[in-house]
Amino acid sequence: MSAIPLIDIPFDKRHSCWFCGEPSYQHFEYIQHAHTPHPSLAVPACSECLRLAKQHTLSSIWDCRMAVKDALMRIYAKHLAIGINWTEEELAESEFSCKVFEGFKKSAWMMYLIARDRINAPGWPLALEGEEIDDQGYNAGFEFDGVTFNSVHAAIQYYSTQFTLDPQFFAELVRLVGRVRFNYALRLARIHIAAAKEMKRQVLQDVEADLTL
Ligand SMILES: [Zn+2]
Repeated sequence: MSAIPLIDIPFDKRHSCWFCGEPSYQHFEYIQHAHTPHPSLAVPACSECLRLAKQHTLSSIWDCRMAVKDALMRIYAKHLAIGINWTEEELAESEFSCKVFEGFKKSAWMMYLIARDRINAPGWPLALEGEEIDDQGYNAGFEFDGVTFNSVHAAIQYYSTQFTLDPQFFAELVRLVGRVRFNYALRLARIHIAAAKEMKRQVLQDVEADLTL
C-alpha cells in the first residue's frame, strides 16, 4: 500500500484519467519536494498519461499536467490535423462516396475527436479529503523575464532551444529549485552546457543536498 493519498474523485469521474479523461486504471504519484506548492498526492491516470507524467514532473502537478497535454499534442499531431483540414459541415457537403466517407468517419474523424477531447479534458480541481488544494497560480501561464509562457514546460523548451541546453537536465533543475527560482535553474543549466552525463548527475545531487541543509 502506498502512503501517498489519492485525490478526491467526483463520482462521475471515478474511472477517468485526471489528465485526459480517458478510462484510467492506474495512479500517478507526485512526490512533494522542498519547493513543491502542494503535498504529495496521487491522481488517476491512463497508462499513456502515466508514462508521460513520469517524464515531466516539473515544479508542480499542474505544470506536469500541462506538459502531458503538450506531449499528447505532439504525439497526436496528425490526428489533430484532421480537424484543421476538415470541418464537420465541409465533410457533410463533400462529394465522397458513402463507402469512402463511412471509412473516414469510422477511423480518421473518430481519432481526431478522441485526440481533441483528450487535450481539452479539463480534469477537476484537486482536493484531498474534502480540502481543496489552492493552485497558487500554477495552473495559469508562467511569466519569466517579461515573457508569458503557456506553461513552465513551454518556457523550459524555449530556453533550451535558445541556449542549446539539455531540456531534461534543465527540467530536473527546475523541479528541484522550484519555478520561483527558474532563473537560478537556467543559470545552472547554462554553465553546465557542455557537462558530461555524470557531471550533470552530480550537479543535481549537490543541488538537492543544498536544499535539505
Ligand atoms: Zn490520460
